[in-house]
Amino acid sequence: MPDTSKPIAFKAEIKQLLDILIHSLYTEREIFLRELISNASDALTQMDFIMLTERDVRQPDLELAIRITVNEEEKIITISDTGVGMTRDELATNLGTIAQSGAKAFLDAAKSDGDQRRLADVIGQFGVGFYSVFMVAEWVRVTSLSYKPRTRPASWYATGDDTFTVGPAEKDTRGTTIEIKLKEDAHEFASEHRLREIVKRHSDYIRYPIYIGDSDEQVNSRTAIWRQSPRDVKDEEYSEFYKHLTLEFDEPLAHLHYVADAPLRIFALLYIPARPERNVFSPRKEDGLKLYTRKVLIDEYNTDLLPPHYRFIQGVVDADDLPLNVSRESVQATALMARIRKILTRQITKTLEKLAKDDAEKYARFWERFGDFIKEGIASQEADRESLYPLVRFHTTTHPENWVSLTEYVERMKEGQEKVYYILGDDDRSVARSPHLDYFRAHGYEVITLTSPMDSFMLLGLRKFRDYELQNVAAPDLELPKGEDAPEEEAAPEALSEEDFADLVERFKARLGERVADVRATDRLTDSVARLVDPEGSLGQEMQRVYKLVDRDYEVPRKVLELNPHHALIKRLSELSDDDERLPLVIEQIYESALLIEGLHPDPAAMLPRIQRLMEQALADEPAAG
Ligand code: ADP
Ligand code: MG
Repeated sequence: MPDTSKPIAFKAEIKQLLDILIHSLYTEREIFLRELISNASDALTQMDFIMLTERDVRQPDLELAIRITVNEEEKIITISDTGVGMTRDELATNLGTIAQSGAKAFLDAAKSDGDQRRLADVIGQFGVGFYSVFMVAEWVRVTSLSYKPRTRPASWYATGDDTFTVGPAEKDTRGTTIEIKLKEDAHEFASEHRLREIVKRHSDYIRYPIYIGDSDEQVNSRTAIWRQSPRDVKDEEYSEFYKHLTLEFDEPLAHLHYVADAPLRIFALLYIPARPERNVFSPRKEDGLKLYTRKVLIDEYNTDLLPPHYRFIQGVVDADDLPLNVSRESVQATALMARIRKILTRQITKTLEKLAKDDAEKYARFWERFGDFIKEGIASQEADRESLYPLVRFHTTTHPENWVSLTEYVERMKEGQEKVYYILGDDDRSVARSPHLDYFRAHGYEVITLTSPMDSFMLLGLRKFRDYELQNVAAPDLELPKGEDAPEEEAAPEALSEEDFADLVERFKARLGERVADVRATDRLTDSVARLVDPEGSLGQEMQRVYKLVDRDYEVPRKVLELNPHHALIKRLSELSDDDERLPLVIEQIYESALLIEGLHPDPAAMLPRIQRLMEQALADEPAAG
C-alpha cells in the first residue's frame, strides 16, 4: 500500500547518513533492533510519566509493552509499542526533517574515524539510532497513534532514498508500529528465534516487557537491578544476576554495588568472580565490563573503565552522563571515562580490603586465585601502586601455612629490625632449606618467602612498605639485623685457619674454573656448607628472574660461591691430599647442590652418577672408628 502523499525530502545530513548506513558492510547489523526497542522504551517511559500528571490520555489501561512479530514468508518484521505515539506532523519532523546535530556529528566521525564498526555500535548515542534500520530494510513503514486524544493515526514510509512520505493511516491502539521489509541479504532476521536471541543480548534490561510473536511470555528477563538502590536488592538477586551474566555455577567471591548521583550519575554492579578463567559456557567471550548509558548497552566489553590488573572483574556500568559521541577521539568522553575509572578502581580496592577484614577464608581464596593480578598491578601501576599493598599476602618462614599481610609482618617485627626480609625461590620447600636463611632461622627472624614467578615482577614496584625497605636475604652485601634482643652469637665451631682456607679456595677455583665468578669465605652460614650469591654490582636477583621469565635464552650471570669455614665438611675437605679422588667429586657436588637449592641447576638428574660414585667411596673406606 504505497503512500499517495507527496514525497518530503530528508534533511541533507540524514540523506548522507542513510547513504552510509545502506552501504555499510557492518557485520553486526542486528543492533538495529536494539535501537528500535530503545526508542519504543523511551516512548513507554514518556507514557508512564504522562499518566502521572494527565488524565485525558488515549487508552490509559493499555499494557505498557513492546511486541515483535515476524512474517517469515514476506520477510517483514513488526515492532509495536504502546508508548506516546506520534501524530502525522511529529512523524514528519522526528523522522527526517528536524535538524539533528547528532547526524552531523556522526558524519564527521565517519569521515575522520573511518571505524565503521565502532560507529554503528554507538549510533544510538548520536541521537540517530532510528536510521540504523536501513542497514537491513528494503522499506520501512512507521504507523502511529498518539496518546493525545482527538488526534488521528498516521504513517510514515521510506525506502532509504532521498525522500519519505507521510499520510493518514488505520490504527486502533495507541503507540507506534514499525514494519520492516528486510533486504535480500538480511533475511536471517525473519526468524523469531534469531530475534529472541538479539533481544536477550542487547535489550535484556529494558524496563517494559518485550514479547515475541503471539506468546505472552516476556523475553527480556530482568529489570536493571544496578539502577536500583542497594537497599532494595536482595542477596539472591545479586547472585542471580551474576549467574545470568557469566553463566557461572559458583557464587562470586564478592560484589560491589555502587550508586552515585553526584558529581556523576553512575550505577555500577561489579563482581569478583569465583575464579579467573571463564567457563566454557560463559557468554562473556572477552575481558571487560558491560557499559550502558541509561540502560542501553553501548559497549559489550569495555576495558577503559578499569586498570588492566582488575580485568578479571565482571559486571555492568551504567553512566548517564556519557556524551552522545563516545568515539575515541572525544576528549570529553575520555575525561569522563577516566573519572569513572578512578572511582571504580578505588571502590574495588576498598571492597577487597573489606573482604580481607570480614572473611579471611574467602580472602585467602581470592588471593590464591587472583593474587597474580594484584602483583602485576603493583609492578606496572606507576602512580597508585601503594593502594594495592594492603591486598598483598605471603607465606613466611615462621608462618608457612598462613597468608600474612605486610601489616602483620611489620607488627611482628623484632625490636630493632628495620627491614622487611624476603627470599626468592622456586617453591616453598626448597626455599625453606635455603642457606641464605641460616642466620635468620637461628635468630628467629621472620622472612617472607616469594616463590611465584610473578613475585619478582611485583618486587620491581614494591621496594618499601611504610618506612621499611624490603631486603633480599640473598643479597651478598646484606647487613645482618642486630636487634637488641637478638641472642648472643652462639660460639661457632672453630674456623679453618686462614692459610688452609686460602689453599682450599684455590682448589675450588682450579676445579670450577669459569663456572663461578669467585670463591670466598662467608660468616653468614651456620648449618649450610656453601651458598651462591651474586657478584657485587650485578643485576639483582629479582631482575634476573624477570629476565628469565621473559627471555628463555637469558643466562643467569655467574655466581660467587661462598663457603662456610666453620663447617666440618669444609675442614675435612681441606685435609684431603691433592690427588685424592674424592676431592673433585666433593667440590663438584658442593657446587651443584648450591645450584640446586637456588633453583639454578639445569639438570639435577645429571648429579646421580657422581652421587653414586661418592656413595661407593664412602662404603669402600674402612668404617669410621667409634
Ligand atoms: P533518539 O532516540 O536518540 O531521539 P532516534 O533516531 O532513535 O533518536 O529517534 C528519533 C526520534 O523519533 C525520537 O526522538 C522520537 O521522537 C521519535 N521516535 C522514534 N521511535 C519512536 C517510537 N517508537 N515512539 C515514539 N516516538 C518515536
Ligand atoms: Mg533512539
